[in-house]
Amino acid sequence: MADAPHYTTITPFYLDIHKFGKLPLKRLNMKMTVAVFPGWMLLTLLACTINNVANAQTPTPPKMVPEMTEFWEPGVAVVTPGKAEQQALLSAPSDAMVLFNGKDLSQWQTLKGGAAKWEVKNGAFTVKKGTGDISTVKTFNDFQLHIEWLIPASITGKSQGRGNSGIFLQGVYELQVLDNYNNRTYANGQAGSIYKQTPPLKNAMRPPGEWNVYDVVYTAPRFKKDSTLFSPARVTVLHNGVLILNNYTIAGHTPYIGLPKYSFHGDGPIVLQDHGDPSEPISFRNIWIREL
Ligand code: MG
Repeated sequence: MADAPHYTTITPFYLDIHKFGKLPLKRLNMKMTVAVFPGWMLLTLLACTINNVANAQTPTPPKMVPEMTEFWEPGVAVVTPGKAEQQALLSAPSDAMVLFNGKDLSQWQTLKGGAAKWEVKNGAFTVKKGTGDISTVKTFNDFQLHIEWLIPASITGKSQGRGNSGIFLQGVYELQVLDNYNNRTYANGQAGSIYKQTPPLKNAMRPPGEWNVYDVVYTAPRFKKDSTLFSPARVTVLHNGVLILNNYTIAGHTPYIGLPKYSFHGDGPIVLQDHGDPSEPISFRNIWIREL
């Protein structure tokens, strides 16, 4: 492992000098002030010099590039999930809101609020590349989400360019969708990762051509009245019945470049990603949500 750059914070010496400078000089007689002042000046000059030298030696953090937030090792262990007989659908419970009933995209829209253009066929819908992400019309706070997704048997490509999509929780935090059946990528960017934050606990992918299932339990972040973070979001995910994220604390948003951070938001939609990689488009079906 390469040595990580090490940054230190040096408490500037002049801060102490400032304290010294705040001595109740008024109470000192002129003689003492005259006696103290040249020494104070000298110390200040010395402090400034030390501080300048210290600053000159402190490296400036380099500009961030994507690879800085990608780690490949340790890789994620593979688990063969149980078989879903006939790839049967788990239909929505009585108190769930059905977000896709196999027939139309009436619960979905583009990010700008227009009609979603992804293609509905045979009880599923398929990403129509280039038409952009789609978002639920309704917004949510805490929820349980069931969603199924299919990597086509004809999939090609490798690493992040193989069936890349994603499920953005509240439109902000990406739960990765990708074909990682015999396809390595950086561990914290593979299917079931919270993108660039944590790998999944296991790789429970089904092979291309078979439906994958995510069951997600999500607790939204809370913000204070001044819009700063009160408590971070948490998420638990089962992938094909295998626990892959166990009450994971989300560190913030999930950018391609840079570090996660929180920005105030209220209820948010479920957003599905039109990633734009050149591989064959993936499909979704049987999506339902229970507000908690
Ligand atoms: Mg993605």
